[in-house]
Parts: sequence; structure tokens; C-alpha cells
Amino acid sequence: MKTEFLNAGTPGHIERAAQILREGGLVGIPTETVYGLAANALDGKACARIFEAKGRPVDNPLIVHISDISQWDALVKEIPERARKLAEAYWPGPLTIILPKADCIPQEVSPGLETVSVRFPSHPVARAVISAAGIPLAAPSANLSGRPSPTTAEHVWHDLKGRIEAVLDGGECGVGVESTVVSLACDPPRLLRPGGITLEQLEAVLGHVEVDPAVTHPLAEGVKAASPGMKYKHYAPKVPVKIVEGSREAYIDFVNSHKKDKAAALCYDGDAAALEVPYICYGGENDPDCQARELFDALRHLDELDAEVVFARCPPPEGVGLAVYNRLIRAAGFEVIHID
Ligand code: AMP
Ligand code: MG
Repeated sequence: MKTEFLNAGTPGHIERAAQILREGGLVGIPTETVYGLAANALDGKACARIFEAKGRPVDNPLIVHISDISQWDALVKEIPERARKLAEAYWPGPLTIILPKADCIPQEVSPGLETVSVRFPSHPVARAVISAAGIPLAAPSANLSGRPSPTTAEHVWHDLKGRIEAVLDGGECGVGVESTVVSLACDPPRLLRPGGITLEQLEAVLGHVEVDPAVTHPLAEGVKAASPGMKYKHYAPKVPVKIVEGSREAYIDFVNSHKKDKAAALCYDGDAAALEVPYICYGGENDPDCQARELFDALRHLDELDAEVVFARCPPPEGVGLAVYNRLIRAAGFEVIHID
């Protein structure tokens, strides 16, 4: 299949993307979190093609994107008061809310589940495409399954060229990690995936929110995943990544002492000058927003360092740092080395 490369700034290209979507096609679109691979959320056949194009496991549900809060009612059984309050506080934005689903949701969107996840993105291009198409759009991250999520149109092109109808370039994503996913289909509410809206922000509206153990720990054998996406190996480059916990000085000594083992570093901006091995920086030590924005691009480039192992610095699991931690710990297959 020939994939069209569209540009959101070119007249007619948003309408072209919308037309492809209305006809059952797939388009990679920018959002404020990561690029999404969009299809008509009410068309089971179109949604099935998303799984094929990505190589996504068939039991991993899709998030439905809307461009106006009034579209939410038709997708869910009902909208309880606490859900309305949460949406009022953080929509449009990087937050996905899970509720019991309405009958119009095709089984491909929520395979084997009684719920549906919905998000109202803030990105002007995402909203323009949804509005122009006139339908809610199912859109998981627009990467090949298992690869880091795409934060530029080039990442999408690299992974999915020839497998989808079009990519719509809208520049680099601002948040850089996927949306926060919270379930309001249970009590207390449950954080299934951390993102740009923090646990603290959720609790300011909802009161106590349970954090699913899979956010920070590998899923125990035999336990059913509350968020099926969390059970799969994710984001990993080919080269093994190991997280190193300890002070900056200890980290630098440790990494430099592995120079002969063809080690490389995934580090903070302030670490680079002291390192004697190849490295990629992903933001300042105390700047988790920047770390979130740069992490996936950094992970995509680690294999170019020609290293046998990459030692990574990782922020504490707080605030937006929890989202960075959650992605990096999966990229590292939960391997953590404690030094000091
Ligand atoms: P992605 O679309 O790649 O951003 O991934 C979406 C994530 O949200 C995956 O981890 C899914 O398992 C999770 N998810 C989506 N819908 C639901 C749902 N109805 N119930 C539980 N988890 C969901
Ligand atoms: Mg994904």
C-alpha cells in the first residue's frame, strides 16, 4: 500500500485525512501525548485493521478519541458525577477515562471487556481531524507493537509506511508519553497507566485513587492485567537497557568502569560531560516534563550507539516522573542495579 504523507499546515490535508478515516482507512495523527493510529471507532472492520498494521495483540483495547465532550454520552452506559468532575478539570488533555461501555462500541475496541476508554485530546490538529471526520476515532500509539511510541511523524513513517493509508504531520508531541489512564468503572478509582496528568492531580478531584501494582512492578504470574497493554514487553530497543539507581557520582563511576564492556549511557543532560562512553541525554535531572518529552526518541536512537549494554538514569516515581519511570522500567525489562 502507498502511504500518503500529509501535512497539517497544508490546505486540504486535514480534510483528506478525515476522508480516509470516514472511508474506513488508517491515518497516523498527532496528539499532545504521542502520535495515534486512528480509525473510525464505530467501525469494527476499520478497528481490526489497526491491530493488523501495528502487530498489536488482539486482546489489547483501544482508546476512543472525541473532539467535543457531547460525544462522550453515546459511547458509555452513563457518566457518573465524579467522571464529569474529572473531565471538567482535565479535558481536553492527556487523560483517558474508563467507564462501562455503550452497545455501539464494536468488540474490536474493547475485546472481551465491558468497558470503554475515552479521551478528549487538546492537540488542535487531533481535534480538527476528529471534527472533520465527524466520528469518534479509536487511536492507539502509532508504532509497531513493542517499539517505543512515536513522538514525530517521522517515527510513524519509519514504523508504518506501506501498512497504513496516511500519516498527518503536525510537528513534535508536547507531552511525549501516552495519556494517563484511570478507571472509574471500579471503586475506588484505579490508575492503570501514569501520564501527563499526575496521580496527585487525579486525587485532587477524586480523593483516594488506587495505583494498579502493574504500574511499577512486573505482573505476577497468573494475574489478569487490569490494563491488558501493561502485560506486554514494551518500548525496548534491541540493546539491553539496565536502570542504575544511586547518586550522580556513583552512576558516572559505574558507567565509566564498564567502558571496556562496550557500555553506553541513557543519562541526564548534566551527566554527559563526565562520561567516557557513548551516551544519549533525555533532559535535566529535575525536569521530568522534558524527560517525558524526550524519552521515546532517545530509546529509538539507543541502538545506533553500537553498545552491548545501556545503563540508564531514571527519575523517582513521583509526579510526571512516575510516567517516565513506568515506561523506562518496561524498556529495561524491570532490571535495576542498585549502587552506593
Ligand atoms: P495505547 O493505545 O497504545 O496508548 O494503549 C492504550 C492502553 O490503555 C493499553 O495499555 C490498554 O490496555 C489500556 N486500555 C484501553 N482501554 C482499556 C479498557 N477499556 N480497560 C482497561 N485498559 C484499557
Ligand atoms: Mg501503545
